[in-house]
Amino acid sequence: MASLEFRGVSKSFRETPALRGLDLSIRSDEFFVLLGPTGAGKTTLLRCAAGLESLDEGEIRVGGNDISGLSPSARDMAFISQQYSLYPRYTVFDNMAFPLRAPSRRLPESEIRKRVTSAAELLSIAHLLDRRSDHLAGGEMQRVAIGRAIVRSPKAYLMDEPVSSLDAKLREKLRVELKALQRTAGITTLYVTHDQVEAMSLGDSVGVMRNGKLEQLGSPRDIYDRPANTFVAAFVGTPAINLLPVDVEDGALVGPGGAFRLQLNGDGAAIGDRRLLFLGLRPEDMALSRQEDASLPSGRIALVESLGMEDSVLVEMGGGVEMRALCSALHRFQPGENVRVGVDSKRWKLFDARTGKSLG
Ligand code: ADP
Ligand code: MG
Repeated sequence: MASLEFRGVSKSFRETPALRGLDLSIRSDEFFVLLGPTGAGKTTLLRCAAGLESLDEGEIRVGGNDISGLSPSARDMAFISQQYSLYPRYTVFDNMAFPLRAPSRRLPESEIRKRVTSAAELLSIAHLLDRRSDHLAGGEMQRVAIGRAIVRSPKAYLMDEPVSSLDAKLREKLRVELKALQRTAGITTLYVTHDQVEAMSLGDSVGVMRNGKLEQLGSPRDIYDRPANTFVAAFVGTPAINLLPVDVEDGALVGPGGAFRLQLNGDGAAIGDRRLLFLGLRPEDMALSRQEDASLPSGRIALVESLGMEDSVLVEMGGGVEMRALCSALHRFQPGENVRVGVDSKRWKLFDARTGKSLG
């Protein structure tokens, strides 16, 4: 198995920079997820790794060797793209067998059958092997496309939002399968998505990307609990983190227009002499209560959205400042109720107001 490394990788399309000196190391056997909004450069990075685009600067190493000069086929990477293209008149079997029948491979037909069958079983499409691929549903086609990529044992899997075109249920199922597949085969995987739930559930490590650069690298837990900046904090998590500008005054954080006041507790050193910060509060770290408690900020419930077991509750804190809290549905909070807002100072996140960088 081989590690996959990007060193100082840059790529522009005429005037548009897609990758800006990106560094990234993926260990062999690792399931690495690259998460970022549309336009971040994710597809470009995969296409560069696969050899479908050339680099302007930098190098890409597989198992320590620079592969920048190699043709796509010599790189031996399996690229699973968003737009799956199957041969419509071929059967599922023949579509999946196609890469194994390349003249350069010369595999015996019995070996081809063995590999296709086992990949098909893994992807729950064994019953479809004789069907023509233009007679399949969308989700089935995507499985075949994945199957075609995994019948051989490439140096790495490059997966570009492979499940994003499927419906939610299928997406979840296929995600589990892909993870299991990667575990079994132990093949280095670079998986790209704009979906943070997908990234958090799949990745051994996650890289958050924006504007052709990595914003943060870490375990899903790290990214969620210790976001490096306001961009990462806001991009990861549903409902999204509450991010509010606050003033530092007499050992307290004061919300816009005095909407709330939170006593500081041990953050002094990190804050230094800053007067302005961004305060990040995850909705699940806020406790709403009907009990009168003058030491806590107060607000009025503007909206309650049911998420099943939990309610997502929007609280108006005064002066147009709103915060979202996640509460057990058992509380049965109602719009118009006055509540106290409990905030755990150990869970809040502080960011520099100018750079957006975490002070944590
Ligand atoms: P992502 O996959 O994260 O959505 P892309 O890698 O597709 O991002 O695109 C990154 C940037 O590069 C975008 O600004 C996009 O418009 C631009 N780009 C990508 N491919 C091309 C291309 N073939 N020609 C011109 N611009 C491109
Ligand atoms: Mg893309």
